[in-house]
Amino acid sequence: MCRYCMIVPSDVLLRLARDEDVENHTREAFRTTAQLDHQMRLLRDQTQHFTMQAVSLLGLPLINTKPPAITVYDCNNGTSLPGAAVSKPASSTDVTIKTIFETTTKVAEFFKEVFGRNSLDGAGMALQSSAHYGLNYNNAFWNGTQMAYGDGDGEIFTGFYRGDDVIAHELTHGVTQYTLQLEYQNESGGLNESMSDVFGSMFKQWRRNQTVVDADWLIGADIMGSLAKEKGYTCLRDMAAPDAAHCLAPQITSFRQYVNRMDPHNSSGVPNLAFYLAAKAVGGKSWEKTGQIWYDVFANHGSDPTMTMSAFANAIRDSAGALYPGDVSVHDAVDEAWREVGL
Ligand SMILES: [Zn+2]
Repeated sequence: MCRYCMIVPSDVLLRLARDEDVENHTREAFRTTAQLDHQMRLLRDQTQHFTMQAVSLLGLPLINTKPPAITVYDCNNGTSLPGAAVSKPASSTDVTIKTIFETTTKVAEFFKEVFGRNSLDGAGMALQSSAHYGLNYNNAFWNGTQMAYGDGDGEIFTGFYRGDDVIAHELTHGVTQYTLQLEYQNESGGLNESMSDVFGSMFKQWRRNQTVVDADWLIGADIMGSLAKEKGYTCLRDMAAPDAAHCLAPQITSFRQYVNRMDPHNSSGVPNLAFYLAAKAVGGKSWEKTGQIWYDVFANHGSDPTMTMSAFANAIRDSAGALYPGDVSVHDAVDEAWREVGL
């Protein structure tokens, strides 16, 4: 069963809530965020359970070829979801609402144009997002049915809507719910988190038309506030260097460091680094070949809630050979990438 998923892991929230270098009001924002996240996690467990039952009872949803309806709600700094519907988000004078609408629309286009997928469920499901969730709320999340974005405390984090990778990360949790259905714990939890970072980063690169060399491979660089930067943090995570000191939420870099019950935001460093190494070796633009291989396993493998990292790595190797039979260098690049991270 998958839990409520946010972009900032709870250990980072708790660490900042106790950080003496951070002013009281900012620490309070982190305490409140951690409390809210705990409550939301309980709620998400139920939603995920129902979705999994519905998919198994009814089979795949009916195919809808129309692009998804995209709606934005305004929580006005409250915590009841979804909040008040915004009638014309595309022309809103509120930059948060307008950006959430525009970026969500682009993420839907990305999945359609690059991977031929219509929305999260592959059947055009409506995409619902809430802006201005909570007061100084330091997170963004997918709760099993919708996305929500906090405004941040303004010191460590700015508005979470600013991150293309943050928005695509949350939406990709929705895709996982309809594809691999990875449980949010142990190895499958790390894979679940990694899928969101991989597709979040790819979306950011696609929107900027960057090659694997141009890309910064950082997750959350655009939501870091001035105090975070002063403290030397340039991002939440770095797919190219998951354990670097400039990461607010550093991760392991090899499967040899993995232990059971590790936070999925930490263990996801292993498949994140494998994707980065594979993409760099294959070259070009990440979504053209390497991304197609990852998507093939993501979307076509079928439900596998307790998938291990080694099973995933082998599925990627098989897919590389099947998708690019005439180019053995692609298979060799992904094979070597997994070996480098201990899989
Ligand atoms: Zn996540």
